[in-house]
Amino acid sequence: MSVTESWPSASGLADLAPSLRGDLIEPGDRAYDSARAVYNAMIDRRPAAVLRCCDVADVIAAVRFARERGLPCAVRGGGHNGAGLGTVDGGLVIDLSRMSAVIVDPATRTARVEGGATLGALDHATHAFGLAVPGGIISTTGVGGLTLGGGIGHLTRGCGLTIDNLLSADVVLADGTFVTTSAEREPDLFWALRGGGGNFGIVTSFTFRCHAIDNVLAGPVLYDLDAAADLLAWWRDFGPAQPEELSGFFAYLSVPPGPPFPDELHLRKVCGVVWCYAGRDADPACLREARAFGAPLLDGVAPMPFPVWNSAFDGVYPPGDQWYWRADFLRELPDAAIAAHVEHGAAMPTWKSSMHVYPIDGAAAAVAPDATPWAYRDAKWAQVIVGVDPDPANAPAIKRWCVDYWDATHPHSMGGAYVNFMMDEGQERVQATYGAHYERLAKIKARYDPDNFFCVNQNIRPA
Ligand SMILES: Cc1cc2nc3c(=O)[nH]c(=O)nc-3n(C[C@H](O)[C@H](O)[C@H](O)COP(=O)(O)OP(=O)(O)OC[C@H]3O[C@@H](n4cnc5c(N)ncnc54)[C@H](O)[C@@H]3O)c2cc1C
Repeated sequence: MSVTESWPSASGLADLAPSLRGDLIEPGDRAYDSARAVYNAMIDRRPAAVLRCCDVADVIAAVRFARERGLPCAVRGGGHNGAGLGTVDGGLVIDLSRMSAVIVDPATRTARVEGGATLGALDHATHAFGLAVPGGIISTTGVGGLTLGGGIGHLTRGCGLTIDNLLSADVVLADGTFVTTSAEREPDLFWALRGGGGNFGIVTSFTFRCHAIDNVLAGPVLYDLDAAADLLAWWRDFGPAQPEELSGFFAYLSVPPGPPFPDELHLRKVCGVVWCYAGRDADPACLREARAFGAPLLDGVAPMPFPVWNSAFDGVYPPGDQWYWRADFLRELPDAAIAAHVEHGAAMPTWKSSMHVYPIDGAAAAVAPDATPWAYRDAKWAQVIVGVDPDPANAPAIKRWCVDYWDATHPHSMGGAYVNFMMDEGQERVQATYGAHYERLAKIKARYDPDNFFCVNQNIRPA
């Protein structure tokens, strides 16, 4: 009998409820449909219950209960996972979204962040002290899933991946016990958490090193699609040669149909570089040179507080859209790859569809290859092709475009992809992502979760 078949019906939940302070939401409850929804509307799963945990005790109770009853379990941080790994059919969703506190210690320049916090909550709390933790580029993303997969964003070149700034984590393990792990305590677990995803336990709080980053100079510089080949070839050589404070990701996009973009550009397909300078210079030469390239249609670079910049795309990408993506790591961007980009980039099927190539050199590349499970420290870029549209009728079209684009550019990649930019693409892709580190991860999984209780993730099978 499978774990799903063994689910004892709603009556079994009555046994769990007295151990909880959080809300247990079941089918039939008014909040059920909103509680089961995840960011990607392509994912439509019906859990047996969603538990909105209040505290660590709730998480422990949920793990023990689910384990005893043989219930499948999904863990949800921000619910942003493209593949929908924050939910599960017929099982228990352990939803951490109410555990979202962030406590900053300005004296030690550290931030303690609960497992269900969003990047927006983290940026807000740290900015008050003139500090920042490197995260992703959309503020509604969960710190939990993003960190456990690696964490790429505007500050990666200067400050490293999010995992490179993780100092310790509190974790509820598969047997319901609780540990605090760091480089000194349970070091194998700490190693595995920094990129191995939700495979090893439920992180109830993370402690990060903060950086003295307050305001940034940032914004897109956009060009006509005809400039794409020249822009890509120039950017490929220019970007990696710049100081680490400067990051610029290449993008194909459509100009959003609203302010601050001028009416005449609304919905026009363009290419561009989205720049972010997070250094001390008020008018850095590297950014001046970057903005001087070619004949832009629009130069939106301006000074702004980091949290403003880190939430600048939120309005374009609210929850509830159809979402499909494909990704790769790149060490090189040969002319043949650029030709494939030019062909497929111009064919974006909907205005929210996009293609980004993020720089992950600089500080991220300076970390030793075996210091974390992140197996691509020698990559220069992480590429993601993303099809997005509010209309479910367009789901096949955005998926087809992504897959065709990926088929054309994948041969020029390093083989694996950023685990947080993957759909359900099978074990082979998971193994390609971790490369030589997979075996070590599988051994650590066997020690901390031998029965693969945490299996709703990009799964590492116990060795
Ligand atoms: C709009 C959008 C923008 C994005 N931008 C970026 C970006 O700029 N940079 C980047 O690196 N990534 C980015 N991502 C990818 C993102 O990192 C992943 O989707 C990630 O899985 C989201 O984490 P979450 O907590 O919101 O997801 P969830 O769906 O809640 O969880 C995802 C996975 O992580 C596990 N998990 C989550 N929290 C915990 C926890 N506390 N303990 C244990 N396991 C946990 C879950 O079990 C699940 O397997 C973006 C995604 C979206 C949709």
